[in-house]
Amino acid sequence: TKFTDLKLDSKVQKAIVDAGYDTPTPIQAGAIPPALDGKDVLGIAQTGTGKTASFTLPMITLLGRGRARARMPRSLVLAPTRELAAQVAENFDVYAKYTKLTKALLIGGVSFKEQDQLIDRGVDVLIATPGRLLDHFERGKLILSDVKVMVVDEADRMLDMGFIPDIERIFQMTPFTRQTLFFSATMAPEIERITNTFLSNPEKIEV
Ligand code: AMP
Repeated sequence: TKFTDLKLDSKVQKAIVDAGYDTPTPIQAGAIPPALDGKDVLGIAQTGTGKTASFTLPMITLLGRGRARARMPRSLVLAPTRELAAQVAENFDVYAKYTKLTKALLIGGVSFKEQDQLIDRGVDVLIATPGRLLDHFERGKLILSDVKVMVVDEADRMLDMGFIPDIERIFQMTPFTRQTLFFSATMAPEIERITNTFLSNPEKIEV
């Protein structure tokens, strides 16, 4: 498979060429086609496998296909740590550079003020750690009823850090009809339980 064989948005394809990528990694070749078909994806993959692009590229394409009403977040990406969330945000900026899609990075350790302003202005994508996302929600700042694509990255680390109850709450705050792309390096019983509860007939890709 080449990237040009994948039905990614032409603006995404352009960004991929700029990045110098030629061939999708196995997780990308496995996850991108079902994600573009609207299916839930369960990806078992470590970092360094190209996992970030495997959810970011289809996410950008799917958002480009849809029409924004008011600019409410249509995509939500959860990562276990500030650093990982920031990395996802950097990747998003690279791959979405030819689109008009906007994002907000919601992580702890920085003031709410700037994040509030972004949310108020309206963004397409939220990239967040679970704790800070829930803080914003409890302050009445976030409406997640328009979320179409939700990504959970590094679920095994979320488990290690005790975030599973937070993740369950966040799943319940998003529409039942959302598409979910879920990634974990391992399938611990607790992770298995979450995926059985919140993913719908997922395409499982193990690399
Ligand atoms: P990740 O596993 O998402 O952290 O990605 C690991 C590294 O691989 C990042 O620096 C990416 O920029 C790079 N990368 C991702 N996909 C590809 C690809 N298909 N070809 C070449 N490099 C890639």
